[in-house]
Amino acid sequence: MNLFQKLEETKVFRDPVHTYINIEYQIIWELINTFEFQRLRRVSHLGGTKMVFASSEHSRFMHCLGTYEITRKIINHVEDVRKNTSEEDRLVLMIAGLLHDIGHGPFSHCFESFYQYSHEWYTERIILEDSDIHNVLVKYQENLPSLVAGVINGTHKNPLLKQLISSQIDADRMDYLLRDAHFSGTPYGYFDADRLLRVMRVRENKIVYKSTGINCIENYALGRFHMYGQVYYHPVSLGYEVMITMFLQRMKDLYEQNYKFNFVVEEIEPFFLDKPCLVEEYVKLDDSIVFYYLMRSLKEKDSILKDLAKRILNRNLFKEHIINNEEEIEIHRNKIINSNYDMKYYFYIDETIRKIYKKYGYINHGSINILYPNGEIKELSEASIIVNSLQNDESFKTTVVYYPEG
Ligand code: ZN
Repeated sequence: MNLFQKLEETKVFRDPVHTYINIEYQIIWELINTFEFQRLRRVSHLGGTKMVFASSEHSRFMHCLGTYEITRKIINHVEDVRKNTSEEDRLVLMIAGLLHDIGHGPFSHCFESFYQYSHEWYTERIILEDSDIHNVLVKYQENLPSLVAGVINGTHKNPLLKQLISSQIDADRMDYLLRDAHFSGTPYGYFDADRLLRVMRVRENKIVYKSTGINCIENYALGRFHMYGQVYYHPVSLGYEVMITMFLQRMKDLYEQNYKFNFVVEEIEPFFLDKPCLVEEYVKLDDSIVFYYLMRSLKEKDSILKDLAKRILNRNLFKEHIINNEEEIEIHRNKIINSNYDMKYYFYIDETIRKIYKKYGYINHGSINILYPNGEIKELSEASIIVNSLQNDESFKTTVVYYPEG
């Protein structure tokens, strides 16, 4: 098969964020139609956020398409990127954009609190091991899976590709900020993505942004910072995710005690063993299966499983308490110790830290770099007073304890 085979006509997805997502290549279309990619329709993008921002019902499926669309726009509109990439690099970049989140489990990040193996690791395995996606990739080119995985894990020989998929400004973050702002109804995440692409340049194999676009970059950085405060780290959203984790943990503990469930648990069984499950097993689990477990648990004889399921389904969530010092944690802990609740499933301490930007330094591609007309390049926190003033502030650390009230 010819890797660069185009479709007879461009296919499009309507999208409220990018208006249209344009599919031009045969291979991209085939990848979208695999089992593993279609599964992303059943994985919510923001696990618990819809418990607070009720319209955040969007899935990983559209986010992956959106990330792909941004890589496509970069390739088509940023001349410096075109000049510094081969035709193969460009197609590999678009495929990596499309597949970068293929390894997310149910409720996205929430699942990683329960299952110790990361979504990044499963993303690589799905691409490299036996899967429909792997089969499509090798059909076009034998080494395509390793090229695509190389972009995602940063080992691809062209360092630009990794920066465009995973750095502090990349296609992934650009899409999720715009998408989550739109679907949650919180406009903090909006920024001028078209302008950002217009000021994108390449110097010494690194993505840099013209200094005339620094306000746009600041706007993006602040938007991200505020989205973490308002949406991603909202204590009620995180509280819902804590409860999903507790529910799955209770299922696992019961399974280990040879408890007889009144429903089939075959899809989650491999996740209860203390070793990574096969790719084929991993992709069988999605939000819909977990909701099935929750519904069936309403009729279970185990009172903890039944109670957690009922609370989750009826949004009767654990109460969140923001903590100012260690003593306060003990006061809350004692309340649960002196109640009938089992501490293991009914008490949780969570800590979040928000950072506007991480100053990694210019060398390892982690920083955002600003290009001045005289050719000088400055790292963002040196170029921007706004970013500099927020980047090291420890006051954006929050500790929250969760437990039921009453
Ligand atoms: Zn993503």
